[in-house]
Amino acid sequence: MRDTELLQLALGLLPPWLVVASRFDPSARRLDIDVSFPKGSRFACPDCGAADCPAYDTKEMTWRHLNFFQHEAYLHARVPRVTCETCGVKRVAVPWAREGSGFTLLFEALVMAMMTTMPVAAVARLVGEHDTRLWRVLHHYVEEARSRADHSAVTRVAADETAARRGHNYVSLFVDLDGPRVLFVADGKDAATVKAFAEDLKEHGGAAKDIREVCIDMSPAFIKGTAAHLPNASITFDKFHAVKIVNDAVDQVRRAEQKTRPELKKSRYVWLKNKDNLTAHQRDVLGGLSDLNLKTARAYQIRLTFQDFYTQPSRAAAEAFLKKWYFWATHSRLQPVAEAARTIKRHWDGVLRWFDSKIANGLIEGINSLVQAAKAKARGYRSTRNLKAIIYMIAGKLDLRIPT
Ligand SMILES: [Zn+2]
Repeated sequence: MRDTELLQLALGLLPPWLVVASRFDPSARRLDIDVSFPKGSRFACPDCGAADCPAYDTKEMTWRHLNFFQHEAYLHARVPRVTCETCGVKRVAVPWAREGSGFTLLFEALVMAMMTTMPVAAVARLVGEHDTRLWRVLHHYVEEARSRADHSAVTRVAADETAARRGHNYVSLFVDLDGPRVLFVADGKDAATVKAFAEDLKEHGGAAKDIREVCIDMSPAFIKGTAAHLPNASITFDKFHAVKIVNDAVDQVRRAEQKTRPELKKSRYVWLKNKDNLTAHQRDVLGGLSDLNLKTARAYQIRLTFQDFYTQPSRAAAEAFLKKWYFWATHSRLQPVAEAARTIKRHWDGVLRWFDSKIANGLIEGINSLVQAAKAKARGYRSTRNLKAIIYMIAGKLDLRIPT
């Protein structure tokens, strides 16, 4: 068997495409394969599919293919333009690559498989390509898959922001709680992100009016955006966020008090963690401090009681519980705690809504940590567009349809 026949079989080329020559240069570590077609061959029109169009002219093009052992391999072909009676002069589509790509489909499949588990820059180093070219491949498959994604059944959504790049750069994630999957990544963290989400939802067969439940933190931007752009949505304020507000108040009380009570130094985490999560040593510290009639200890008790709110058996019981708690907290003479209680009061319905919706942002936190881990591994991304593509790839549950 001649080398051209072997390569023809290995490449799986079908007529009229033929391997006509190959050049192997071990010192340059590369194999170059020339593909051509017999004179007079006819091709289908790439636009309308009309068969048997004659070639009009040709252009020499090159694609990187899978390595030949440890050597880089390239395909070269003179790709014809055809004359179609309906469409005019058109460049034909070659079966081994998609239009505009300098890589064969199989090479793209390889790097896509690698990029789902490795940072793009690391893949670029391994295959000896500039990462800009690989990002272009990744964006292509992610955008294609997103354009096919169906959001028509989405009714329950959580939204949260995540740090995008150095400085005060954010993106907001909108997550389908029933997917669970990232539906949309918006630039920034203002009310316009909800508008952009509603528009994107529509582009994917969904409707803003179908969104019944939204879980967010107490950011005024998300509240305003939800009211304006998701008209039938009830807001649930994320329970972890609500607890954090009370937790932060405890920490403020401790920081102020430790100026006169040095025994509080280094006790920060003792008050912030739940009792079950304390180490034996921390539990001893807490036991010792609890007997000292500290403001911090009182604030801590108010925080523990706030957490019990979420274990109430019904919404009615929970509302009665929250009223009592609010009275206690606002009469505690602990200013940060009273302020936290007033913040809860201002968001009363959305805090109580949890008893109807039972939705929280824990899922987003999980996605967030995956994204931040990928970001750390990649040592950051050059653009927000790159970050968004990675988020969709990690958490979008997209059907990427990578060629095989
Ligand atoms: Zn045509």
